[in-house]
Amino acid sequence: MVKIFYDKDVTFDAVKDKTIAVIGYGSQGRAQALNMKDSGLNVIVGLRPEGASWNKAIKDGHTVMTVEEAAEKADIIHILIPDEVQPAVYKKQIEPHLTEGKTISFSHGYNIHYGLIKPPENVNITMVAPKGPGAMVRKTFEEGFGVPGLVAVERDYTGDALQIALGMAKGIGLTRAGVIETTFREETETDLFGEQVVLCGGVTELIKAAFETLVEAGYAPEMAYFETCHELKLIVDLIYQKGLQGMWENVSNTAEYGGLTRRKRVINEESRKAMKEILKEIQDGRFAKEWSLENVAGAPQLNALRRLEKEHLIEKVGKELRKMCGLEKE
Ligand code: NDP
Ligand code: MG
Ligand code: MG
Repeated sequence: MVKIFYDKDVTFDAVKDKTIAVIGYGSQGRAQALNMKDSGLNVIVGLRPEGASWNKAIKDGHTVMTVEEAAEKADIIHILIPDEVQPAVYKKQIEPHLTEGKTISFSHGYNIHYGLIKPPENVNITMVAPKGPGAMVRKTFEEGFGVPGLVAVERDYTGDALQIALGMAKGIGLTRAGVIETTFREETETDLFGEQVVLCGGVTELIKAAFETLVEAGYAPEMAYFETCHELKLIVDLIYQKGLQGMWENVSNTAEYGGLTRRKRVINEESRKAMKEILKEIQDGRFAKEWSLENVAGAPQLNALRRLEKEHLIEKVGKELRKMCGLEKE
């Protein structure tokens, strides 16, 4: 079983006399910076002066400076800008100030794991990652609790890198819910696999294939949308709160029997073979390489796929129905 750290297992000793620079003030940056500041830690925020975040962070009461100044001043540099822009910003504005004994910290292992950021040998490399979007990280903290999180140490130069990561996790409120110790490799590879196979890739293709099957068979697109997409939330909420077993107990016996007897015809041996291949591409770096080249080329494939996805009938039908349900305005 994994190791889980709670509030009582962690102190602020390794971080309380250090300056923590949060680089970026988006979804995670804002939430994590505010939580750590409210926990009494010394937080500064590093941003580009021309960006929209600059004034937002000042308004929230932070000490704001350029990325370079923040990287120079801080003992811990916590990088929370989008993963694709991290390597360039790191190289130009952070690396020159990453002197011996400092800690470079992330909320996702991608750039370190795939070697797109290569810090010098004499610094700590750590991860503190909330298992939830920034807005939830802030909201649950203000309510007196926190979302669960992960910590990992890729390199422990000073001997207390794990205590530093855990101190930050405590400051963000993650140890209130529980923090799991993992590795950069495990976090990165499972994250990519989950989003490709289930959360983003698998689920959308399942919905679209089922929607198209009904529409092609002559059923009303509105009915198809309700049954193959809209109602998914009810099932996912049940699974989220009560697990797979709890979901089965809450649907009709007909749904349970039909689901249990038919599901392996949809997700079959071939699907599992594809999952294994996708995992292999993540593990051997082929996916990361492809994604880097795609970005270098200006994301032509991504843009084409985005266009196709937007033009699908399910988007038109969905927009109308969500308006009808009061879920979406104009
Ligand atoms: P965002 O897309 O919300 O980050 C936007 C922020 O980055 C803005 O403050 C923006 O400032 C700043 N920024 C962008 N480019 C630059 C630049 N060139 N120089 C300086 N600042 C810049 O990122 P997220 O919060 O979504 O993700 C941050 C990290 O957290 C990633 O590693 C991600 O994988 C990880 N993570 C994210 C989760 C999430 O729920 N979103 C969950 C768990 C981990 P400006 O206003 O100037 O554009
Ligand atoms: Mg991800
Ligand atoms: Mg039904």
